[in-house]
Amino acid sequence: MLVDGIGELVTNDPGLQPSVRDAAVAIDGDRIAWAGPRTWIPDGVAGPRIDVEGRAVLAGFVDAHTHLVFAGDRAAEFDARMRGEPYAAGGIRTTVAATRAASDAELTVSARRLRAEALRSGTTTMEVKSGYGLSVDDEPRLLRVAGEVGDEVTFLGAHVVPEEHADDPDGYVDLVCGPMLDACAPLSRWCDVFCERGAFDEGRSRRVLSAGRDAGLGLRVHANQLERGPGARLAAEMGAASADHLTHLTDEDREALAGAGVVATLLPAAELSTRSAWPDARALLDRGATVALATDCNPGTSFTTSMPLVIALAVSMMRMTPEEAVWSATAGGAAALRRDDVGRIVPGARADLIVLDAPSSVHLAYRPGVPLVGTVIRAGEVAVG
Ligand SMILES: [Zn+2]
Repeated sequence: MLVDGIGELVTNDPGLQPSVRDAAVAIDGDRIAWAGPRTWIPDGVAGPRIDVEGRAVLAGFVDAHTHLVFAGDRAAEFDARMRGEPYAAGGIRTTVAATRAASDAELTVSARRLRAEALRSGTTTMEVKSGYGLSVDDEPRLLRVAGEVGDEVTFLGAHVVPEEHADDPDGYVDLVCGPMLDACAPLSRWCDVFCERGAFDEGRSRRVLSAGRDAGLGLRVHANQLERGPGARLAAEMGAASADHLTHLTDEDREALAGAGVVATLLPAAELSTRSAWPDARALLDRGATVALATDCNPGTSFTTSMPLVIALAVSMMRMTPEEAVWSATAGGAAALRRDDVGRIVPGARADLIVLDAPSSVHLAYRPGVPLVGTVIRAGEVAVG
């Protein structure tokens, strides 16, 4: 297949210009065969030709942080917060109760619906966490659903301490690091922890991450969302792939993340939905950190699957350029997941493309809230449009 007539192509290929005018992309099966200026189209490109008539084409979005498997919603809590009540990490327990009561089939239907919604706005790779089961029986159930709908699966047994262990957080960490991890490690690639006041302190977070690493899982950390804390430094110390949120950082935290090669995954839809201060993307970029953008899709603090919304927020509120934000939503997300086969339009990568109903990727931030994602190609197949 040849995608031809591309007005602006954003490849994220360090060997090409950041954007290529008057371009084409050749796809062979589920892989990119070639991408570049139309005048260089190689001989022998066969199959159907799609003429996108001057539109912009970029890589499918890589959403590296979602909590897609849950039951119920928290519209009432959102409404209360918008009336002035503050957010506390304990709101997660509301969703835990609803999720435990739901059947596997109900959880799968709900997660599939959200996955389809994300695909329509251009997300072709998605990480999905557990974290609303918080028991040895329920966490594996959620991870099986996550594996059905997501591309990357993360065990988040250490999301909050559930109600029944409220008086014994160390006993709960024993459970997470013992039988829960034994049941969950075969179903996951990643282990995550919510290192925050009201969730898990530094010592308990370190125990969870150490146990996850010993079980062969890669590490991710929910860090520094609500206040300056130890999460970012812990992510650097433990060699996590990604530290996520990072709303409240010191310069030492930023330098530690950049120095350790921990991707800084920013989730501005959570700040939007909690009326919080924005993470300082510019300060992270200035210190050489790799920045990813993700939705944090969850029913409590960020109930959106829209990567275009996240890009618009990053540009308008967080001082990223449109080019940086698009990179962070594609190649940056891939870096946060340690993937080199997605997030780029380069030969050999999975053929995941978005055709925008716009002449340039700048329109993603320039026209916030407008559904600009037209055609979505995933693994060489037209999935939307
Ligand atoms: Zn999260």
